[in-house]
This record gives sequence, structure tokens and C-alpha cells, in this order.
Amino acid sequence: MQFHKTNTPMIREQIIEILAYWKESQKNLRSLQKIARERNETYRRKHNVNKNDPSYLLNNKETVQHKKDRIVRLITDDFPETLAQLLNLDKSEYLVKGSVGTGTISDIPWIAIYHKEITKTATKGYYPVFLFNDDCSGVYLTFLLGWTQYKNHFKNIQVARAQIIRATTLIKQELRPTDGFLTDKIDLKTRNTNLAKGYELGTICSKFYEVNSIPNEEVLRSDIIRMLSVYSEMRGLIGKDIFIQETSFNENHYQNTDELADKLPEFPIGPIPYKEAVSYKQKQQYPRSRRVNALAKSIAKYKCEYNQAHITFESGVSGNDFVEGHHLIPIEAQSQFENSLDVPENIISLCPNCHRAIHNATVTLRNEMIKHLYTIRIPLLEKRGLKVQLNDLQNLYQVG
Ligand SMILES: [Zn+2]
Ligand SMILES: [Zn+2]
Repeated sequence: MQFHKTNTPMIREQIIEILAYWKESQKNLRSLQKIARERNETYRRKHNVNKNDPSYLLNNKETVQHKKDRIVRLITDDFPETLAQLLNLDKSEYLVKGSVGTGTISDIPWIAIYHKEITKTATKGYYPVFLFNDDCSGVYLTFLLGWTQYKNHFKNIQVARAQIIRATTLIKQELRPTDGFLTDKIDLKTRNTNLAKGYELGTICSKFYEVNSIPNEEVLRSDIIRMLSVYSEMRGLIGKDIFIQETSFNENHYQNTDELADKLPEFPIGPIPYKEAVSYKQKQQYPRSRRVNALAKSIAKYKCEYNQAHITFESGVSGNDFVEGHHLIPIEAQSQFENSLDVPENIISLCPNCHRAIHNATVTLRNEMIKHLYTIRIPLLEKRGLKVQLNDLQNLYQVG
């Protein structure tokens, strides 16, 4: 059995202390900052030096004041240390960081847990984070996508907002239900609407602890542990695909590659090592790339490869004929192959009717389709180091 040292500070105590004293700290820090800035400005004018002048920097004591403040130390040092200790976080994997704002004192102090593979900063990736309400009415334990990366990547703010909403919506649909965590909007009670909007848009799920009813240590700890399991599920689900362009969540999303149609990748030639299966919806699944799907369809010139005469309809987004990508050697069989099955050569472009047929038609028709597609694809598959006999393929489709 393990005992925590009696002097190890508790998560609950520290949350309560931050909520009780943050406003006062914030006020003090801001007025000290104001005084320091005015003093600096006077100094700068009087001595006619610019902001990078060593004498100016020497005189600039703004940041030194922060470190003397007990609540700032609690947020930036002690609380992160407590979390790392109590949760036994492996320091080679996780990084816990707290902040009261860089430069200016923030309305919303926070303490985040980063998985180093995904992010090392609040502006990027995704992570669980404690966000303290501006009015100190409580604290959110929130799982979020960093907003700044969307703003920087998509440039146009409306597009960035639409993209982060699309991403969080898809993720919310796909994550296992997280009991007790809400997927609604969060309300950080701040007048700083830009800051609040960023957090709000990026939120995937959250739990609010009201200042007068902070749960006991055990509940807090198990909530954080559940947040960490959301974190590992997310890593399996989207990995580093922060903008959710490659990750396919379900068949509809996988087939809808319109948004990728005009920026197709160069695809390396020859056999490609496959990506390991990831745990997804309690099953082991091999990831499929939507970009590879998009590429295969464009190579087929958006025709049905079972019969090029088949008529489909025009896609509302890309204007191309609507076809779907189907893995000839089913991706579930990946473990039986040395090289990746997620290559354009193994993806057949089919009209929606044929795609339904290859999955659902009679054994006779399915067998006929598989034989035909096998014949046209076998030389291409070999270039990818994929060797398969017709009867093995028939067995995979259970039409043998
Ligand atoms: Zn299919
Ligand atoms: Zn067809």
C-alpha cells in the first residue's frame, strides 16, 4: 500500500486558495505592473533610450514582482508540481504548466497538463486544463483544442472559427461518453470576449466546480484521471492531426474528401510501412487517411472503376462526380500484410451504388465484382509489396 506524505499539499486546498486570493493578487499585480510601466516609460523618455536598451531592461522590474506573489507561485509552480506528484505523471511524457498570463496579467489563470507528443504550449495541440473563472466563482476542468493554432493556420477569423467548431463537433460525436463531463459551452465570466471565445470554441468537454462546493480530493483526482483517459483516447483518435483533415471518424466522414480535392499530396512510390492500429471506440482499428482516399479517387478521374459507364451525381462542393473509395484488400486484414494497405493502389473508386453492392449484394454478385477488381489491380498492388491470391481475397470477403 502507498501512503502520501502528510505534507503533500492537496489539489482541493490549492484550488480553494487560488479562488480565494486570485482577485486580490490580480489587482495588486496589475497596479504594480502599471506603476512599473509608467516608471519605465518615464525612464525611457528621460534618457531617450529604446525598449531594447540594456539600461532600460535593467530598470524593468515588472516580471520580478510576479514571482514574489504567493498566488502566482501557487499557480505557476506549486499546483503544477502537486498535480504531477499526486497523479504520478511520468515527466518524460507529461508536462504540467500554470500561467497568470504572459506579459499582461490574464483574466483567466490556468494550469494545463500537456502530453509532450501533442504539445508543449497552450497555443497548440490539445490538452486538459484548469481554467479559473474571471470572477472567481469557480474553476473548470476542461479538455480543449488550442484556439491560437486555428487562428494562425486559417488566417481568416471566420474560417478559423468554422474549422474549430467543425473539429470539436466531430470529436464530440466520436469520443466515448464521458460521464459527468459536459460538452456544452463554458462560461468563464469574463468581459474579455476574445479570450473567452477562444476557450469556448475549443472546448470538447468540461466539468465545473463551483467555489462553494469544490468536491473532495478523491473526486477531483478521479476527474483528472478521466480527463487523462480522454487525452489518450484523443491521441489514438486524431494523433497529431490537429486540424482533423486526415483522420476519418466514420464512413461518411471518410468518404467526404471534397475539402481535400484541390490540395492532394505527393505520394511516395513503392511499399510503405503500415501505421499501427489504434484503440478507437473500444476496438483496435487501423487508421485510414482521407488524403489517400482523395488521391485514389482523383487518379480514377472520379469514375466508377467497376464500370466506367456508371453514372453518378456531381458533388456539391468540388464539382467532381461523386464516387467513394473502397479498400480492395480490407484494411482490417492489415496485420496479415507486411506493407500498408492504405495506399491509392488498394483503393478502388466506386459509384455509391457499386460501393453498397460490394458490401451488401448477394455472394454471386460480390464475387464477380471482386474477381474483376482483383484482375485490374493485381499488378498495381504488387508495386506496393502487396501479394494476395484471389482465393485469399475471396476468403476475406467470405465469398470463396
Ligand atoms: Zn467499402
Ligand atoms: Zn459503379
